[in-house]
Amino acid sequence: MSSSFRASAEALSERIKVSFEFFPPKNGDMEGQLWDSITRLAPFQPDFVSVTYGAGGSTKEPTLNTITRISRETTLAPAAHLTCVGSDKVSVDAVAREFQAVGVKHFVALRGDSPDGVGAAYKPHPQGYANGAELVAGLRNISDFEVSVSAYPERHPESPDFATDIDMLKRKVDAGATRAITQFFFDNDVYERYVERARRAGIYIPIVPGILPIHNFAQVARFSKLCGASVPDWLARRFDGLEKDAETRALVAAALAAEQVNDLVERGIDDFHFYTMNRAQLVYAICHMLGLRGDETTAVGAAA
Ligand code: FAD
Repeated sequence: MSSSFRASAEALSERIKVSFEFFPPKNGDMEGQLWDSITRLAPFQPDFVSVTYGAGGSTKEPTLNTITRISRETTLAPAAHLTCVGSDKVSVDAVAREFQAVGVKHFVALRGDSPDGVGAAYKPHPQGYANGAELVAGLRNISDFEVSVSAYPERHPESPDFATDIDMLKRKVDAGATRAITQFFFDNDVYERYVERARRAGIYIPIVPGILPIHNFAQVARFSKLCGASVPDWLARRFDGLEKDAETRALVAAALAAEQVNDLVERGIDDFHFYTMNRAQLVYAICHMLGLRGDETTAVGAAA
């Protein structure tokens, strides 16, 4: 390895920022897996770690418990996802205050999906926040929270066109959002075109790419259809025939995600949000390849 390459890799790791997304556990085994993952990834000193929220409040307690434990037992900055589907404004505000009471200063504000499932027609609660933008405004009325929002490089399935989609992102920014995190995507050109569209519309907040390492290709392909993310043929080909070979699938998945992230770095991107699926191994490998090295003083337990 040449010394100039080593020097540039070191400089790169200094400017790379990462954040990790987890989901709240449903049982003791899942809780163990979640905390193994948090413990393994914590030394990378993520900008923040976020915990998802079941639309309609279905995971309120486990999300709150996970956030509370992160606040108490680690030095990580927690971000709570919050949705407004199926609830009136007063109830959503009350949940936000509960999160605030356990130390949350950062929300990922989302409308959420219809209780009938992703893709079913969405009906706002008559006394509720109708969409992500209204929720952002509601949160900012409570406190000067940091608020991240969603962005859809291939547009949200309910958006009739890109203009409508970008307009919603603009409304969320105007309401006080300070960062957008994208739905996962596999074609970096799609992301780049979306960011260009947003910039042309006067949106200047960071639009952080959401990176999904593929643990289970069949599952990702199914979910992609529902949420409007496309799966390129070349990607399907890479997993073709590996259905019974978990070890090789993991190697292919790590190589693919590293390829995607490295290409984004070459395009000037230095902030990444990882959908961890509560599994650390692939994300750990990608962060390592990005040049990040763990700082063990950030280990879980440091704040206990
Ligand atoms: P909004 O920003 O309000 O709207 C999304 C898009 O839909 C807009 O671009 C808009 O153009 C279009 N749209 C909305 N309403 C209409 C309408 N009436 N007519 C036409 N177009 C419309 N879900 C969860 O349940 N829990 C989570 O923790 C969670 N975390 C997420 C994190 C990220 C980073 C992302 C990208 C998504 C997450 N989701 C989560 C999924 C999200 O709730 C769904 O994608 C949901 O369908 C839209 O929520 P939103 O906040 O993006 O909606």
